[in-house]
Amino acid sequence: MIQSSAREATTEAVVAELSKRSAFVFVSHVKPDGDTLGAGLALGLALRPQGKRVYYFQQDPVPRNLRFLPDADKVARALPADLPADALWVFCDMSDTSRAGEFLPEIARENILDIDHHLANTRFGALNYVLETECSTGTCVLKLLQAMEAPVTPEIATCLLTTIMTDTGGFMHSNTTAEVLRTSAWLVDRGADQQEITERVFANKRFAAIGLLGEALASARLEEDGKFCWSVVDEAMLARHGADGEDTEEIVQHLRSVEGVDVAALFKAYEGDVRASLRSNGRVNVQTAAGRLGGGGHFRASGFTFDGTVDAAVDAVRAALHAEGL
Ligand code: 5GP
Ligand code: MN
Repeated sequence: MIQSSAREATTEAVVAELSKRSAFVFVSHVKPDGDTLGAGLALGLALRPQGKRVYYFQQDPVPRNLRFLPDADKVARALPADLPADALWVFCDMSDTSRAGEFLPEIARENILDIDHHLANTRFGALNYVLETECSTGTCVLKLLQAMEAPVTPEIATCLLTTIMTDTGGFMHSNTTAEVLRTSAWLVDRGADQQEITERVFANKRFAAIGLLGEALASARLEEDGKFCWSVVDEAMLARHGADGEDTEEIVQHLRSVEGVDVAALFKAYEGDVRASLRSNGRVNVQTAAGRLGGGGHFRASGFTFDGTVDAAVDAVRAALHAEGL
């Protein structure tokens, strides 16, 4: 039983809990990215040599460009029948449990550790290790590993550098501080292969993704005196290019890179709903904008799921952005 009643757990409290427990289930969010996966894989890789049982549970498959991560093949939707009742469920990189999807079993709060760096994390765990100033959930995990004095192997270093490179957009976003670069250098010294991660994560596009990107860019709209750029990907576009949801990854980044654009949005209308990805250059807070529509994320990168048509979703985003000062 976790004794702490504090909403914010100290590094020491989390390390003490990790040492007490014998089994762990790491949970990634839906549409997993390099941070949610890399953070859990890294902590699991550090705990297993200590004799702990480690499982990975997530709703969606591991994206093609992250299957190179050490132990990615162990990530599954199934759980072992003999999972101990006191296994600790470690949610990585999500502001609330709904981000894990619909297939989670009932989990007692006392068995939940929440490791995250999102603004507006709901502190849903018995222990909440939420460090909002960290660039990635992976660097929160690194603080735990250092406090545990756990060896950082090349495999762990690769997972952690992937979390940083994913969440800093390859060291381009504003969260790329001097400290982040120092941490990254330290991980490279421990065997993380920056070139390998770049190739696997960022330069590994299917040709279908290039065609899809072309069509999404060609049909992009520029509004609000050039400050808002948006586009749509729907089922028909995916079908035309033989593409799937994973092939949409970097489209919104291109929309945001247009001169004068403060906010870009990509509306994804497939798989039965409309999801939106928002990106900001730092002038408008898209985390609070998405929050108005039931989503969340970070100041410069956020998302939400919309119940309605694409046209209605675009109108809703325009209104939310006006409210945030666009
Ligand atoms: P993406 O556009 O890459 O899907 O998401 C960008 C950021 O917004 C990520 O940090 C992600 O966690 C967050 N995000 C995306 N969709 C949702 C959502 O439906 N709810 C919440 N709370 N956050 C989201
Ligand atoms: Mn993250």
